[in-house]
Amino acid sequence: MSGSAAVPFRQFIVKAHGRCNLACTYCYLYEGPDSNWRSRPAAAPAEVLDRTATRIAEHARAHALTGLALVLHGGEPLLAGAGTLAAFTDRVRERVPAGCAVHAVVQTNATLLTAARLTVLAGAGIRVGVSLDGGTAAHNRRRVDHAGRPSWPAAARGTRLLADRFPASYAGVLTVVDPDLDPVGTYESLLALRPPALHLLLPHGNWTTPPPGRTGTRYGDWLCAAFDRWWAAGRRETRVRLFEECVALLLGLPAATEALGLAPFDAVVVETDGSIQQVDSLASAYPGAALTGLDVFRHSFDEALRHPGVAARQTGAAALAGQCRACPLLRVCGGGHYAHRYRAGHGFRNPSVYCADLQRFIRHVAGKLAGAAAPVPSLPSSPEGGAP
Ligand code: SF4
Repeated sequence: MSGSAAVPFRQFIVKAHGRCNLACTYCYLYEGPDSNWRSRPAAAPAEVLDRTATRIAEHARAHALTGLALVLHGGEPLLAGAGTLAAFTDRVRERVPAGCAVHAVVQTNATLLTAARLTVLAGAGIRVGVSLDGGTAAHNRRRVDHAGRPSWPAAARGTRLLADRFPASYAGVLTVVDPDLDPVGTYESLLALRPPALHLLLPHGNWTTPPPGRTGTRYGDWLCAAFDRWWAAGRRETRVRLFEECVALLLGLPAATEALGLAPFDAVVVETDGSIQQVDSLASAYPGAALTGLDVFRHSFDEALRHPGVAARQTGAAALAGQCRACPLLRVCGGGHYAHRYRAGHGFRNPSVYCADLQRFIRHVAGKLAGAAAPVPSLPSSPEGGAP
């Protein structure tokens, strides 16, 4: 360990398979500017998975972690085989010190979920997160296979199987916001899939390559409408992490998400060739943005903690643009998602490209909380906008 105040990694995102059986038209990973994935093996070889398990255990031991998240990712991780995912997870659990809980989840497009595979995953204590654009065929029109055929029939079948027969394994649904879709209709269609949690993500974009269809506060408006539907239910129909974290941050409670707040970022990625990367949302900024030059064969995760790009994401407000540091919403917003701050020639020290949307959303949630008589710290007014 460097002796610095670096926060250990607690989320290990392992690319079990680097290809996907779908070709979603907006995919930042395969359709974006970074094509480094082409040079890596499709499936993570056994020696990469074995070495990764050892490195994770080493990190858990060095930092006396009492828990960590193991995220089996891709591409489409089920292309690696449910048995491979189960064996790898077992190996990580065997090697971490006693007392370190391994919370394993596979993030899948759901098209390959079968009863047999779900049985294997459940047996290995691997929960299943599903990526969808909404709960109808129309919402998922851009999620197509390599021949352009819709993925929805298979994804819907897989997700319903998960909800019906393996509810204890169901981690939730992850959805990228499409401002062309009705927010309430999208939310309610997803609710019909009975997810215990819903993760709403803003599409990747930055000041040089703006998010699709971004005008005014369109994305902020979308989030406000979905929030109002969620809030008005009067009971928790599902957990929506972005909403719950925003509420928690407004109440001064600790919260940690990549999209909001100032908590140090603690996720790291292992690619199918064993290379250690920063999260691949960075690949949406410019080619190679996520690369560290490190790999699990030659380097520990502690060495990755010392990488300047990782360190920059752990220094909180000090790493942010002056406009963010002076912003009254800083403690809640945190400058937004790191990848969304990029501007070619200026790096990442800018407000989020979603600055105006984040202001709109955070102030809206604060207003709801104030109306609910919760003890919300007051937010000074600030000018809307935020372009650097
Ligand atoms: S200036 Fe914008 S991006 Fe920065 S903290 Fe404030 S709302 Fe967030």
